[in-house]
Amino acid sequence: MPATIARYGRNPVLGLGAMLSVGLLAIPATVAVAAQPAKPLRVVSIDMEGGGGTLLVTPQGQSVLLDAGWPAGVRGTPLAQSSANRILAATRALGVTRIDYLIVTHYHLDHLGGIQDLLAVMPVGEIIDHGPNREMPPAGAVAGPDAIASLYARYEALLGGRKHRSAKAGDRITIGPLTLDIVSADRDLLPRILEGAGGSTPGCDAPRLPDMGNGGEENPRSIGVVASYGKARIVSLADLTADVEIGLVCRINRLGRADLLVVSHHGSQLSTTPPLLAALQPRVALMANGATKGGDARVFRTIAAAPSHPAIWQLHHATRSPEVNRPVDFIANPEGREDGGFWLDVSVWPDRRMKVTNARTGFSGDYPARR
Ligand SMILES: [Zn+2]
Repeated sequence: MPATIARYGRNPVLGLGAMLSVGLLAIPATVAVAAQPAKPLRVVSIDMEGGGGTLLVTPQGQSVLLDAGWPAGVRGTPLAQSSANRILAATRALGVTRIDYLIVTHYHLDHLGGIQDLLAVMPVGEIIDHGPNREMPPAGAVAGPDAIASLYARYEALLGGRKHRSAKAGDRITIGPLTLDIVSADRDLLPRILEGAGGSTPGCDAPRLPDMGNGGEENPRSIGVVASYGKARIVSLADLTADVEIGLVCRINRLGRADLLVVSHHGSQLSTTPPLLAALQPRVALMANGATKGGDARVFRTIAAAPSHPAIWQLHHATRSPEVNRPVDFIANPEGREDGGFWLDVSVWPDRRMKVTNARTGFSGDYPARR
């Protein structure tokens, strides 16, 4: 009997058939339960039209949302297609009714702007940010209603009475089987090396990218996260800029490898360096671009040239760099305009197996388990 049980554990389908055929029906219930394959973590890149919105849901229904997208009405999105309603649709599709943790990576409109709408449509547990806003109007200028300082002031008012904390680089948040390591926050970087990481990163001596600014002081202060689920690793550095991200991997790779990379900054050329790709060795890269935002050709080429040859999936056809788009099966919203609203859904198993599904068509790609 022990040999039969062990074989069932290695190959549930064939093993069960073999047991039925030889009449071994008196299997202890505990054996059958123990042999169930582990369920996947779900990682959904929600179409925020070039805004931030990544949803993680554990098999037990615990949920983490990285950013809340735009406020309704911005970037031509009608109210029914607002970031908040798209988050709501994604959570419902995954069978959850609340966000347990909302991480506000930084205070730009495309990441924080949708929070008021979101709080109006669904319960949100703890809100986590990087501390005070650092993007102030020039000396002597008054912050207009659309300025980051004004947006942050409205956010602070929303926090009243809610569970909230400011995270620091090096913090670790455990949510059931999911571990979130905060690797960047407010320009500070992880002060240690993650388990299994270390070693030197190739390419750290190559010339740095041309300095094109940071797109606003809040970008380099983004909260970056390494999520661990079993042996699988998911890396999302929000809009962390190249000058800061490089410190996470050069010369010592503090992060280790990534199975799934949510490409920084919607694929903007201000982020994503060759050393980052060389260090993380991602197998799948999600380009959370908008039709006319991010998805820059330089970033596509950097990812395509990475030693790990990642598969690239896109939220949108990138209209600004049409020559580098992937085949249409790999693009959730291929129209080259806003309002598609289809997401990319990644199932991630503890043994590093992944399955990426294009919600528009159901087309999927399988990436095998790895030791
Ligand atoms: Zn952004």
